Amino acid sequence: MRRIVAGAVSALLVAALAPSAAATTPASPANDRRVIATTSQGREVVARHYGALDAPVQIVVIGQMHGSEPGGRAVVQELAARRIPVGVGLWLVVSMNPDGDARGTRANARGVDLNRNFPTGWRPGSHGTYYPGRKAASEAETRGMMAFLRDVRPTAVLSYHQAFDVVDISHARSEAAGRQLARYMGERASRVGCDGPCHGTMTQWIDHSLRTIAITVEMDGRVSGREADRAAAAVLRLGSWLGR
Ligand SMILES: [Zn+2]
Repeated sequence: MRRIVAGAVSALLVAALAPSAAATTPASPANDRRVIATTSQGREVVARHYGALDAPVQIVVIGQMHGSEPGGRAVVQELAARRIPVGVGLWLVVSMNPDGDARGTRANARGVDLNRNFPTGWRPGSHGTYYPGRKAASEAETRGMMAFLRDVRPTAVLSYHQAFDVVDISHARSEAAGRQLARYMGERASRVGCDGPCHGTMTQWIDHSLRTIAITVEMDGRVSGREADRAAAAVLRLGSWLGR
C-alpha cells in the first residue's frame, strides 16, 4: 500500500514538473510526448522528445514508415537510450505506420502507401504496392505527421527505410547534411531520386512546404545491433554538426 502511494506521489511530482506532464511516463526520460495520429485500427502514432526542447537543433527521427521495413525502429530505440549532445533535441517516432507494422505490410491497414500520400506532387494511382490513396493526405498518419512537423518546425527530418543501403541526397537543401550523415554511418550517399516514378513522398513535401532538411535513410535488409548503434551515433553527430 505504502509503495502504491509513494508511486502515486512521485507520478504527481513528475506531473507537476514536466512540461507535458500528463502524457509523460515517470519511468521514461522523454520530456514531452505527443500523439500525432490515431490509425484506422485505433493505434497511436507517438512522438517522444529527448534532449532540450529549446535546443537550437531539433531533429525528427522516424524509425518506420513502411510496415515491412522495421530496421529503423532499432535506431530510434537506441537513440532513446543515449545521452543527447548539448544544443540538440530529438523527436523520436518509432513508427508512423503501426498498423502496417502489425500486419508486416508496406501500406497501412487501408492499403495506402504513406510515402505516396503526401500532397507535394501527389498523383492518383491504382491499388497495389504504391497505392497513393484516393486523394492527397487521405490518411490519418499523413495528416498527423504534417500537422506535427508544421508545429515543431524541426531543423531536419530523418526517415528510415529498407533495404537499398544508401542515404538519399535527392533534395538539394538536404545534400550536405545527407552526405555528412552517410559519412558518419559508413554508408554511401546517392541521389535515389523520386522525381521520376514516385510522387507524394514525405521528403518531397517537407522539402517543398517546410523548406527544411529531409533525408531518407535506406538501411540494408537486416539491421544488426551494431548497425543500429552506429546509425544512432551518426544521428547525434549530425545534430552536433548542424549546430556547429
Ligand atoms: Zn520504405
